[in-house]
Amino acid sequence: MTHIIHRNPRTPLATAVRGLGSYLIDHEGRRYYDGSGGAAVSCLGHGHPEVADAVIAQIRTLEYAHTSFFTSEPAEQLADTLVRRSPPGLAHVYFLSSGSEAVETALKLARQYHVERGEPGRWRSIARLQSYHGNTLGALAAGGHQGRRRLYQPLLADVTHVSACFPLHYRRPEESDDGYGDRLAHELDTAILEAGPETVSAFIAETVVGATAGAVCAVPGYFRKLREVCDRHGVVFILDEVMSGLGRTGSYHAFEQEGVVPDLLCLAKGLGGGYQPIAAVMAHDRIVDAIAGGSGAFQHGHTYIGHPVACAGALAVQNIIERDGLVQRSATLGRYLQDCLRERLGGHPHVNDIRGRGLFQAVELVQDREGNRVFDPGLQLHARIKRTALARGLLCYPGGGTVDGVRGDHVLLAPPYTTTQEELQSAVDILVASIGAAIAEVRDLQ
Ligand code: PLP
Repeated sequence: MTHIIHRNPRTPLATAVRGLGSYLIDHEGRRYYDGSGGAAVSCLGHGHPEVADAVIAQIRTLEYAHTSFFTSEPAEQLADTLVRRSPPGLAHVYFLSSGSEAVETALKLARQYHVERGEPGRWRSIARLQSYHGNTLGALAAGGHQGRRRLYQPLLADVTHVSACFPLHYRRPEESDDGYGDRLAHELDTAILEAGPETVSAFIAETVVGATAGAVCAVPGYFRKLREVCDRHGVVFILDEVMSGLGRTGSYHAFEQEGVVPDLLCLAKGLGGGYQPIAAVMAHDRIVDAIAGGSGAFQHGHTYIGHPVACAGALAVQNIIERDGLVQRSATLGRYLQDCLRERLGGHPHVNDIRGRGLFQAVELVQDREGNRVFDPGLQLHARIKRTALARGLLCYPGGGTVDGVRGDHVLLAPPYTTTQEELQSAVDILVASIGAAIAEVRDLQ
């Protein structure tokens, strides 16, 4: 009997008792390869002794000091590290405890920026369909994930949603990358004009879509075109790299591969790598200068912002990523993983797409490739693959359903950057077998 209501009580869970490298170990001694890094969190794998030492040393020295009285060395050093590894201008950091808080904070920063500049009429956010930005009310309102929104719809703020860039399903047959990007830029432009540019505060997008659609990358040039539309209308351009940032896609920031720099950047999962709950918003000079030259301070705060132990853990994680060349490793191993997936699943009759960047890869499944018919969402193929893989010792992150305009089921892989080719090979073996078993199960039910 559990008193914890994190999960559905009808779905019993094993108890995780230990983490070691790329593996988690349960109470019965079973080992699971962490092929999804939890939810793209565990970038260094588990049980890294240097991170553990850094966290313990910080707890022994200073566990907490409220940010209205003090700053702390780990918070300052972590901010310096993030800024040093970012493009010029993206020079300010606000630390939080979760990705949802980072999204809320970015939306509020954008709003205050406009007010400080004498445009108090700007409040509206524009986000994209097939997106996920978190589960707190502001972040949930921004997200386009209908399944997660539906129950709470009456509580959600009014956010305008435009199309995401999902070339596999939504680029017209005759459309080039450029033409598709132009059409989406035009859609955003129209949405801003219809809302009234003087009311629009921010546009937010995941640089690479994670939870909703599975490692969906935009077409080349898309983000530059959208940034240009935002600039033209004075709209703050926010990128959400909670899942895709800090090496996950093979560059430190995912936006480096898009030729843009955001005004505000949301980071979380790979920041603390699961060793600490920590998130951050990075802000460009132009945002912070407007506030500094106006009222002086961002009107926001939580009890645990800039928590010294969380910052010390994250600092150790970021230092190890840099010292051990793990961003490059994510890029190289990501190509290897994609090659393995293509080799084993490329010709599979139900595999519609294999996509992603770095160690952020997804496999999309459909009932019938030619007719682009999806499996009945009620059959929950993706959840079956997760269950089957789990029983075979592989953790993977499932998603799917037609209801969000996400066609088909998918499984996301986001293993630790420290993993090996051999581990990836055997993870792909298990995934191939699990997909086969889950599809056989579904066929029996049809
Ligand atoms: N933004 C993105 C892109 C995410 O993928 C997530 C979580 O999966 C969040 C925000 C919310 O982060 P958290 O679950 O830490 O609140």
